[in-house]
Amino acid sequence: MADQYDVVVIGAGPAGYVAAIRCAQLGFKTACVEKWIDEDNNPVLGGTCLNTGCIPSKALLDTSHKFVEAQHDFEVHGIKAGKVSIDVPAMIDRKRKVVKQLTGGVAGLFKGNKVDGVSGAGKVVAKDKVEVTDHEGKKTELSAKNIIIAAGSVPIDIPPTPIDQDVIVDSTGALEFSEVPKKLGVIGAGVIGLELGSVWARLGAEVTVLEAMDDFLPAADRQIAKEALKLFTKQGLDIKLGAKVTGSKISGKGAKKSVNVEYTDSEGEQKAQFDKLIVAVGRKPYTEALLDSSVGVELDERGRIKVDDQCATNIPGIYACGDVVRGPMLAHKGMEEGVMVAERLADKKTQVNYDLVPSVIYTHPEIAWVGKNEEELKEAGVDYNVGNFPFAASGRALAANDSDGMVKMLADAKTDRILGCQIIGPSAADLLQQIVIAMEFSASAEDIGLTMFSHPALSEAVHEAALAVNGHAIHIGNRKRRK
Ligand code: FAD
Ligand code: NAD
Repeated sequence: MADQYDVVVIGAGPAGYVAAIRCAQLGFKTACVEKWIDEDNNPVLGGTCLNTGCIPSKALLDTSHKFVEAQHDFEVHGIKAGKVSIDVPAMIDRKRKVVKQLTGGVAGLFKGNKVDGVSGAGKVVAKDKVEVTDHEGKKTELSAKNIIIAAGSVPIDIPPTPIDQDVIVDSTGALEFSEVPKKLGVIGAGVIGLELGSVWARLGAEVTVLEAMDDFLPAADRQIAKEALKLFTKQGLDIKLGAKVTGSKISGKGAKKSVNVEYTDSEGEQKAQFDKLIVAVGRKPYTEALLDSSVGVELDERGRIKVDDQCATNIPGIYACGDVVRGPMLAHKGMEEGVMVAERLADKKTQVNYDLVPSVIYTHPEIAWVGKNEEELKEAGVDYNVGNFPFAASGRALAANDSDGMVKMLADAKTDRILGCQIIGPSAADLLQQIVIAMEFSASAEDIGLTMFSHPALSEAVHEAALAVNGHAIHIGNRKRRK
């Protein structure tokens, strides 16, 4: 007889493992099915985020940032460290250890919360049945009162540059280079292109980013995107906008392999040669061999599992969350959806506030935003006030010799309610979180202005931007002074 569960979760990425843990905390008998295994056939938990996404990319970003600091910034502080060099295999090894620690942590959390981890590929074969095929092809069946699908996403590949994970790689391959490529091409100036392009540029690669769109970071506030383009160009990233890749050819053998890339831009046909090429043109939902058609779970026009605001599919008892459904492909969005689904199964009224999903690009400086940007407010015809504060006027940023960027806050002109905040600067992700909380509580810019901030701290820039919204900033001239 099939094992009986209250909830079977498919996928142990951030959406799935969080959903499973919360379900178990709420008293449901829960299993989480994950097909990822390591070279010794041991189950691997944590999904893209922990294994090939958020965590390993941040580990390499942190190492490469320290390398840049040691090379260029120490001297400004009077520290003489001599000639520094990078040991790429040691850097990659450290990254693997961080990943292993965290994935092992998820296994510990499953054990502690009594979630049954089931190794194998799960397929929804009926509205209350999941068939699991293990790595030896053995099939078992789990019966479930409720099923939560959290199967995640995979990189998109494009015909002109087929991935071989040697010379032409996706984001996973770009986390595993054994040496710094001399010339690195990146297709796509999105989040992955900028983060991983930055890693290898900081370590000495000559990096060219080919972006098909004419606009840089179209989802970001224009003023912030302009500042980012200026800073990244100064850091050595050669970002070519309006560059459409049409073909590629790998030549050479062994360590001498390289790739010739053809692309067109406003000046016509162009060619470039790279030692490695990263393709980072977005990700797509992963639904391969996941759903038996007899069950009738609907997909949308982009192949995502169709869900409502509470992550319910069209089939009662089947839910889906994370990258496999609509909305931004972000770990924190998936985790909150996982919690929401679990709590709704326990009859709680939990909701995800999709208007306040923070976005972060972990370059240096970091770029982070939440809510509406200036262009969106203009387009919606909303009357707003803006407050800007540059880190160049922050005592703490200057003390750290890390003063590029600014905080920009937007508030309703009539009510003063904060409508959005964009930050480019040191620790932007952590600084932004203060405003995400403030916006959850419908705060006004004045509320932030009347709050006491520790001195000297980077967060004073957020305080001053809030004061600037109403023309009261103390440490910078105000564009419009209001009483
Ligand atoms: P996933 O993490 O993709 O997990 C899905 C899991 O389901 C996988 O383990 C998969 O093996 C498993 N699975 C799939 N099908 C089946 C099946 N049939 N049976 C059993 N198991 C199955 N997001 C951020 O918020 N911040 C970041 O800094 C960030 N950095 C990133 C950097 C990179 C390089 C990449 C690639 C992504 C990054 N992301 C980041 C995005 C983030 O990784 C994803 O949004 C997040 O992992 C999605 O979580 P998920 O649980 O929906 O899916
Ligand atoms: P993305 O959507 O951020 O960027 C892809 C870029 O590639 C876009 O600018 C797009 O215009 C460009 N592009 C598309 N097709 C192209 C082509 N043929 N030639 C040249 N350029 C082309 O996607 P990504 O960077 O691959 O990241 C995938 C997902 O992973 C994102 O949705 C993001 O949410 C998530 N992610 C998040 C973080 C983070 O939160 N810090 C980090 C990495 C990844």
